[in-house]
Amino acid sequence: MVKKFYIETYGCQMNVADSEVVAAVLEKEGYEFVKDIEQADLIIVNTCSVRENAEVRVRGRLHHFKSLQKKRPEILIALIGCMAERLKDELFEQEKNIDIIVGPDSYLQFPKLIKEAEHGDNAMEVELSLTETYKDICPTRIDDNSISGFVSIMRGCNNFCTYCIVPYTRGRERSREVQSIVNECKDLEARGYKEITLLGQNVNSYNFVDGDKTFVFHDLLEIVAQSVPSLRIRFSTSHPKDMSDDMLKIMAKYDNICKYIHLPVQSGSDSVLKLMNRKYTKDWYMGRIEAIKKYLPGCGLSTDVFVGFHGETDEDFQDTIDLMKDVRFDLAYMFKYSEREGTYASKKLPDNVPEDVKGSRLAKLIEIQRETSFESNKADLGKTFEVLVEGISKKREDQVYGRTSQNKVCVFAREDFKRGDLVNVKVVECTSATLIAEPVL
Ligand code: SF4
Repeated sequence: MVKKFYIETYGCQMNVADSEVVAAVLEKEGYEFVKDIEQADLIIVNTCSVRENAEVRVRGRLHHFKSLQKKRPEILIALIGCMAERLKDELFEQEKNIDIIVGPDSYLQFPKLIKEAEHGDNAMEVELSLTETYKDICPTRIDDNSISGFVSIMRGCNNFCTYCIVPYTRGRERSREVQSIVNECKDLEARGYKEITLLGQNVNSYNFVDGDKTFVFHDLLEIVAQSVPSLRIRFSTSHPKDMSDDMLKIMAKYDNICKYIHLPVQSGSDSVLKLMNRKYTKDWYMGRIEAIKKYLPGCGLSTDVFVGFHGETDEDFQDTIDLMKDVRFDLAYMFKYSEREGTYASKKLPDNVPEDVKGSRLAKLIEIQRETSFESNKADLGKTFEVLVEGISKKREDQVYGRTSQNKVCVFAREDFKRGDLVNVKVVECTSATLIAEPVL
C-alpha cells in the first residue's frame, strides 16, 4: 500500500517544474512526499530523452533500485517524462522492475495508475494532450529552501527541428492561462522566493487567447513583472525565429526582468540550419543579436550549439566557429550530435560524421568558448553588479556564490550574507567561469 513517494528528476528545468506538479497531484490524494528513498513506497523517476546518455543514466538507476526492492519487494517504481513517452510499454519488457509508466501530459491520472499497480498490474498512461497545462495545480516546492522557482508557461513544441525528440515526447504547443501563471508567481513570492524562471520549449511562441484578447510572450512578461515587482524574472528557452523586438523593449523597461537571454543557435552554417529545420539563417540570427545589443546593451548572452550533424563539412564547421567569434557569447552549452531514434533525422538524415571528427570539432569549440568567456569576464573587472546569493561556495566555506542579472556566477566573502540576499559587489578578479568580487556598501 503506497503512502510515501520519492522523486528523482533528470534533464531540463521543465522536468524540475513537472516533478513539482506530480508531487502536488499526489499530495492532493493524501500521499506523502519524502526526501529519503529508504522511506518510500513509490519511487518516481522523471526522465529525459534529449540525448542517449540521459536514458543510459536512468537505466543505471533502475538497476540500482533492484537492491532496494530485494529488501522491500512491495516498493513500486514509476518511470515518467520524456523517456516514458518515447518508449511507452516497450519499457515494461526492457526493464522488468518498472510498475508504472506516465507520459508528460498524464500526471493527473497518476493516483489511478498507482491503484492499478497496487493490484499487480502494469499501469500506463501516455496519451499526449492538445490542452493539458496543469493550470489548476499549484506545484509543491520540492527543494523547500530554494530561492529560485520554475514556472512553466506552456507545454509542447511545434517546431520539429529534425534532430529533436521533444515534439514527439511533449506533444503540440499549448499556452497556460495568464492568471494561473500569475497566481503561481505570487505563491512563490509569498513563500519568500527571490527569483522565478518562466519556462517553455520556445517561450517566444507563447500565445493565450482569452475571449477577444490574445496574450503573446511580451504581454505575459510585462504582466508578471508588474505582478511580482520584488522578484527577479528570468525565462527560458527563446527561439531566434520568434524572438521579437517588443520582448526586448519590455525587458529594458523593467528592472526586475534579468538582462540575460539564452538564444540557442545550434549551428552557424545556413545549409546545416536548413537540414536542422531551424527556420532561420545565420544572417537572421545575427540580426537578432544586433537587436539585443541595441535595446539591451550589456545583456548576458548564452547559446546551445552542437557539432557533427548530418553532412556537416569543415566549411560548415568553420561557419559555426566564425559565428561564435562574431557573437562572443558569455557562455555556451556545446555538444556532439547524438542521433535520437524517432526523430526525422534518424529516419532521413544519416548520422554520417565520424565520432573522432565530432570529438575534435567539439574540443575546438570548447577551447574558443573558454577564451571568449574569459574575455567577457575580464571586461567586467572593476564593474559593480547586484548578485542574488544562492548559497555557500562549494570551493570555500568563507565565500558565498550567486548570479548577476546577466546570469554570471559570482563569488565573494561570506561575512553574514545568506541565501536570498541581494548584494552589490565590485568585480576584482575572474576566471573563465566565475567573477570574483568584493561587497560594496
Ligand atoms: S525548438 Fe526545436 S530543439 Fe527546441 S524543443 Fe522544439 S523541436 Fe526541440
